[in-house]
Amino acid sequence: MAAGILYLVATPIGNLEDITLRALRVLKEVDLVAAEDTRHSRKLFNHFGIATSLTSFFQHNEAAKGERIIELLRQGKSVALISDAGTPAISDPGYLLVCRCREERLPVTAVPGPSAVVVALSLSGLPVSRFAFDGFLPARSSARREMFAGVARECRRTVAFYEAPHRLLAALQDLRSELGDERQIAVARELTKIHEELFRGTVVEALEHFGQNRVRGEIVLMIAPALLEPPQETVREALRRLQADNRLSRREIVKQVARQFGLPGSEVYQESLDMNDEMEDLDG
Ligand code: SAM
Repeated sequence: MAAGILYLVATPIGNLEDITLRALRVLKEVDLVAAEDTRHSRKLFNHFGIATSLTSFFQHNEAAKGERIIELLRQGKSVALISDAGTPAISDPGYLLVCRCREERLPVTAVPGPSAVVVALSLSGLPVSRFAFDGFLPARSSARREMFAGVARECRRTVAFYEAPHRLLAALQDLRSELGDERQIAVARELTKIHEELFRGTVVEALEHFGQNRVRGEIVLMIAPALLEPPQETVREALRRLQADNRLSRREIVKQVARQFGLPGSEVYQESLDMNDEMEDLDG
């Protein structure tokens, strides 16, 4: 008998319309859905008319429940794993079960959809061709400061964290102590929901902004790489400025501009080609 498939199904992070057609089909067709909080997921199921049986699967029963799911998969039953919101196993239960399936050579596949960290990074306006995600910030200030001290030296990647709203101000104060006033950051709040907000500015500006009222909702905090100045010029202006200096090769120009903007060299190289083509068209 063929083993059943474990589906890791992403669900909306706020707006119920952000669910894929495949996710809806899989959730309707599987034998069982393992959900972080069955009461929460029941609302999603009612909204979309899904009648599949639900079982709870959360951090503290992950190991034991995981073995029951493995047994069902061995018997040929298919199971979908969902979390309260977003992508399973990303700061949510799922990792242990995926490991066990791999050990047992049971098939696992993903039904992709939103994940708050990716949505936040794409909206942030910070350089994201390279990024790191460090999960939830620690609750204790000393541990948080240690974490930020590591980020202070991060020159290449934007670093993202999940944070609870009631700790955001304390986290920003720790950030200021470790990284100074001027580091560029972004804070995404309530993504895809009615009160969606994307703040972008320095640490001090963020403290002013979020210090006004009680902070509510779900939050992703993102820290730009060190040395990222607010853009004084565009990529093309930087290319033109360096091209005017005839001593620099195209390779060197691309390297410098890529470093300045935190962009991949290939992207800047393509931009320089496009720019020169357009200039030739104008001349011709
Ligand atoms: N697995 C989920 C994912 O892929 O996005 C993340 C689960 S984690 C337990 C929940 C945290 O994600 C929240 O505390 C918040 O930091 C972030 N988050 C989830 N939904 C969000 C939203 N709509 N806007 C901003 N942050 C969100």
